[in-house]
Amino acid sequence: MNLDKIEKIIPKERIHINAPMAKYTSFKIGGNAELLININTVEELQETLRILNEDNTKKFILGNGSNILVSDEGIKGVVLKIDIKKFEITEDKQKYTITLGAGCKLGETAYKLANKEIAGLEFASGIPGTIGGAIRMNAGAYGTEMKDIIKTITYVDRNGNIHKIKNQEAQFEYRNSIFCRNDDIIVECEIELNKGNKEEIQSKMQEYAKSRREKQPIEYPSAGSTFKRGKNFITAKLIDECGLKGYQIGDAQVSEKHAGFIINKGNATSKEVEELIEYVKKQVFEKFGEKIETEIEIIH
Ligand SMILES: Cc1cc2nc3c(=O)[nH]c(=O)nc-3n(C[C@H](O)[C@H](O)[C@H](O)COP(=O)(O)OP(=O)(O)OC[C@H]3O[C@@H](n4cnc5c(N)ncnc54)[C@H](O)[C@@H]3O)c2cc1C
Repeated sequence: MNLDKIEKIIPKERIHINAPMAKYTSFKIGGNAELLININTVEELQETLRILNEDNTKKFILGNGSNILVSDEGIKGVVLKIDIKKFEITEDKQKYTITLGAGCKLGETAYKLANKEIAGLEFASGIPGTIGGAIRMNAGAYGTEMKDIIKTITYVDRNGNIHKIKNQEAQFEYRNSIFCRNDDIIVECEIELNKGNKEEIQSKMQEYAKSRREKQPIEYPSAGSTFKRGKNFITAKLIDECGLKGYQIGDAQVSEKHAGFIINKGNATSKEVEELIEYVKKQVFEKFGEKIETEIEIIH
């Protein structure tokens, strides 16, 4: 790994050797990454990729770590944490185009826009991810998904070349997009939103936050909903009907509040969470004959 070359383009305080992934993930689980670099600009990303490609160093792209389970053995190679924070607004007849860096957090962005009386990102205010991670997953809540607001997406391929695509080209589906099937790195997007009323936007976000607090175990570390929604069934309901709420392997537990969430009760390991996922899948299949899929990504 060409650490010397990387140190010439990235300041030392943004290069972390043996970075504990538990610190960088909402699950608070995972061994060390050999190297983790905070990437602040597109140019830094392009140059870093070119250096890492010289000796084929393995790379993993990290947003806010809120949809992943990192293995106890950690991550080999380099984690590139995308912290690109652009935030620009243009207005045309009360229609707004907002350019966002992939490292912008959804919650912070929704509150910033509310202050400017721009409506439409309320649905994402409680999703603890970045714009990049949310585009890749087509994250959504309360009936709206990223695909409903995205106009264009700018990405960098693994050779460091930059490209821009339109919404339709991203092939958005439920918790899925073209970026789940390739290695491209999202760096920026444009979203289109409308003028709104500040009080109305804020009260909608408060209502969503209240509903999350009541229904989801947000007081414990997790990666959100562990399993995908079924085509013709509600996954959490099937897990609940298997009597699995509160079922625990080590410190990994099927939440008592919401059966679709596996939570970390304290010192859960990745192995325990994985075993629990497999156990839940098996129980649901045996009782209902349904195969349930994980929404979270397991990184080995
Ligand atoms: C309490 C809680 C509640 C949640 N609620 C919801 C919800 O309501 N709806 C929902 O959809 N999700 C929800 N999630 C899941 C998660 O927050 C979303 O999937 C989020 O969009 C992930 O973004 P991230 O930046 O954290 O991605 P990460 O977890 O860092 O990464 C996820 C995947 O995206 C890739 N990735 C990250 N950034 C980029 C990039 N710039 N370019 C290319 N690939 C990239 C990573 O390599 C990884 O494969 C919740 C999670 C938690 C913990």
